[in-house]
Amino acid sequence: MKALVAVKRVVDYNVKVRVKADGSDVDIGNVKMSMNPFDEIAVEEAVRLKEAGKISEIVAVSLGGKKCEETLRTALAMGADRAIHVETEAKLEPLAVAKLLKAVAEKEAPQLLFLGKQAIDDDANQTAQMLAALLNAPQGTFACKVELADGEVLVTREIDGGEETVALKLPAVISTDLRLNEPRFVKLPNIMAAKKKPLEKLAPADLNVDIQPRLNVVKVAEPKQRQAGIKVGSVAELVEKLKNEAKVI
Ligand code: AMP
Repeated sequence: MKALVAVKRVVDYNVKVRVKADGSDVDIGNVKMSMNPFDEIAVEEAVRLKEAGKISEIVAVSLGGKKCEETLRTALAMGADRAIHVETEAKLEPLAVAKLLKAVAEKEAPQLLFLGKQAIDDDANQTAQMLAALLNAPQGTFACKVELADGEVLVTREIDGGEETVALKLPAVISTDLRLNEPRFVKLPNIMAAKKKPLEKLAPADLNVDIQPRLNVVKVAEPKQRQAGIKVGSVAELVEKLKNEAKVI
């Protein structure tokens, strides 16, 4: 059984993101980039299923500029067997990503398709759902537990106020949530070994996919600065400030 895992290269989660002066986009010049954290969880889950003998091959896929290769090498070092890089410098919206992943899935015929629940740059939370719709495949989003049973996969989902377990027929699309697992640290020998694993290059045109943007970003802005808080000396002072300064009571 084969698993396809989609990994996106995004601004590292430790970086304080800055908006470009003209408000057109986020500034990613000279900024540390990493694998989207939810995609690390997706790779980890696939690797654990392989280690448990439940699946036989893991293919990591990344779409984007030349440097996505680094992200794919990380996935290979974590345990993926081979990688596919759909190389394009164009800005990809979730619909274009979903269409490209669908085309890759049609070539590769995986039984499991793992994606992150959201990419932490655009926070779209759309791609897995769109991919499932395009493939006409069942989806288990926000997964916190994944179990393979006979011809189906049980996905426990994080939902408001609890969990829900769904049984999906294969092939199925799964998007990973934070509590699914804790991704491993990649060890140096694995990083070296990953350099020799196969990495295939494709272009969107090879997959016959139209990646034209459908959306127009009007403006990107920083969140409003919050004023620093103050400490009050007594309840009486707090009440006085709420009444006369904040005017909320
Ligand atoms: P989004 O819908 O943009 O929040 O992204 C959800 C998930 O789709 C990510 O966690 C990735 O697994 C996958 N994905 C989105 N964009 C890309 C990309 N350019 N390359 C590979 N996977 C992607």
